[in-house]
Amino acid sequence: MPEEKKFDGDGLTRREVMARTAWAGLGAAAGLAGAAGVEKLLGATAPRVDESSPRIFGVSVEVLPPIDDRYPVMPAWKTAMRQLAPNVYAYQQEGGTGHINAGISNAGLFVGENSMIAFDGLGYPMQTKAFIAEAKKVSGGKPFSELIDSHHHGDHVAGNQFFVPTPILSHPYCRDEVVKAVANTPATWPKAEGQADGTEVRKLVPPNVTFEDNLVYYIGGNRVEFRFVGPAHTWGDMVAYLPERKILFAADLAFFYLIPYCHNAYVSKWMESMEKVLKMDVDTIVPGHGPVAGKKELNDSLEYFRFLKTEVKKRYDAKMTPGAAAADIKMGKYDNWMGPERLLMNTVRLYDEFKGTLKPDIDVEGTKQAIVEYNAIKAKKG
Ligand SMILES: [Zn+2]
Repeated sequence: MPEEKKFDGDGLTRREVMARTAWAGLGAAAGLAGAAGVEKLLGATAPRVDESSPRIFGVSVEVLPPIDDRYPVMPAWKTAMRQLAPNVYAYQQEGGTGHINAGISNAGLFVGENSMIAFDGLGYPMQTKAFIAEAKKVSGGKPFSELIDSHHHGDHVAGNQFFVPTPILSHPYCRDEVVKAVANTPATWPKAEGQADGTEVRKLVPPNVTFEDNLVYYIGGNRVEFRFVGPAHTWGDMVAYLPERKILFAADLAFFYLIPYCHNAYVSKWMESMEKVLKMDVDTIVPGHGPVAGKKELNDSLEYFRFLKTEVKKRYDAKMTPGAAAADIKMGKYDNWMGPERLLMNTVRLYDEFKGTLKPDIDVEGTKQAIVEYNAIKAKKG
């Protein structure tokens, strides 16, 4: 069966790869959501090698859509500090086919004469430390003057602790959400391959400086504009734009070869923000997740949303429930991207939008219900 098709390289089935990657991603963000009833948060349970069903709030998505053989599988990309312009770097983390990390994000680095600015703190001790070590290497050991968090999800801010005492900046919404999540954060990082060696004390550090929009730095011969683009992926999204270099660090406004993660999203506004970016004078886009690329890949993600929104709307108008709608929708080429189970959360967010009940917070109950119903329908179909 197509679902059991092996990936090249490491002998994992797609189901295994998808399950593991999705778990990492969902756990990371859920761990910061502070939502009641969230189980097995990032840090509470490491991704299991034999995890067979991605879970959202403890509820498993039992049947993942199979690989669609009519379309190519994802590419794979490597971890690298990529220089994009003089004193401008993207720290891209590995992913794609054969990798296990849908929740592993990218960061940015802007080097100045005496210091440097990081854009995002990443999500696990080993990754943040590796990023910091690479930053020190390319800068000749300069200290950080600022860390700017793009938004509140764990895979972007959980590494903040390794930048202390550097000032940490964000949109006020991002700070508020991180502050809320402090109480739910475990005291240690459990040992997990490629993430934590099990010795680190864990401390969630909220941003201590907030700004609303358009904070501009002149650093290393570059103008770097931190701009608010929300509500989109969350209500606090910041991107970094370098107009003279035609580079946009889009953070989670952009997912390349991964299904966009919509737990806190306002999908229609997110689409509008993507449309605006497509009209900007930009050649290079650094996504929050996926390889460094450009407008073509951003447009692919926008097409994903256009297709999804149309399909969900038809079923909403036909008075289907979100779980039934998700079970009925076939995403075609997007089923080959990482995180196909995100269809559930994304459908729920669109329903909330259509109903007029959308809030910045995750719809935990709505999402759980949709998964239970989706599973029941898939089980019947056998
Ligand atoms: Zn995110």
